[in-house]
Amino acid sequence: HFLEQAVRQNFCSVVRLQKLAERDYVTGLLNRRAFNARAAGIWRQALRDGRSLGIAMVDVDHFKLYNDHYGHVAGDVALQSVAQVIASHARRPLDACARYGGEEFVVLWYGVDTEQALALAQRICQGVQALGLPHSMSPTADCVSISVGLVCTQVLDTAQWAAALHAADQALYQSKQQGRNRVCVAELPPAASG
Ligand code: GH3
Ligand code: MG
Ligand code: MG
Repeated sequence: HFLEQAVRQNFCSVVRLQKLAERDYVTGLLNRRAFNARAAGIWRQALRDGRSLGIAMVDVDHFKLYNDHYGHVAGDVALQSVAQVIASHARRPLDACARYGGEEFVVLWYGVDTEQALALAQRICQGVQALGLPHSMSPTADCVSISVGLVCTQVLDTAQWAAALHAADQALYQSKQQGRNRVCVAELPPAASG
């Protein structure tokens, strides 16, 4: 009986530690390492099924100013709220989202075309605005906003993943350049998009 209990407790500890290791402490989302592992699996699945994927890179606008003005604790709370909006728009079993870095997130949508991915990304953008978190220092808006870089790709080979992420990142940069609080869509180079 004691042995069985010990084995069971050990199993629970391992599961708990695994969960801790793959989650970001502040937002509860997957961390970057866990996301990369999950994304690789989803990518292979899309390759087998001949499905397309939408990939969005999300970055909070003028977040340094937010922290400087409202404090780091308020910054953490804002990040949690943004994370919840993102997570609520990536809920299907083969979707994934994660905290990719400081105030940067990544979303993966399975089996969506560009139009659908764009609609989802725009809904996240609007959802963050609708949180109504005052950001009096932001030159962009009265409230906390995000910029999104989006790419949608038919999954044709395993080497494409890095290129797709890079393209989403470029599109995010474009969103920032064009005034923030918006979604920009990247065109994948023909070789990669097939
Ligand atoms: P941009 O619109 O160009 O993205 O401007 P930005 O100020 O958001 O970008 P920048 O990269 O200059 O600053 C990011 C800030 O995000 C810096 C840091 O204070 C804040 N940040 C990163 N991680 C965390 C975190 O875990 N908690 C809090 N509160 N702030 C964080
Ligand atoms: Mg950033
Ligand atoms: Mg930022």
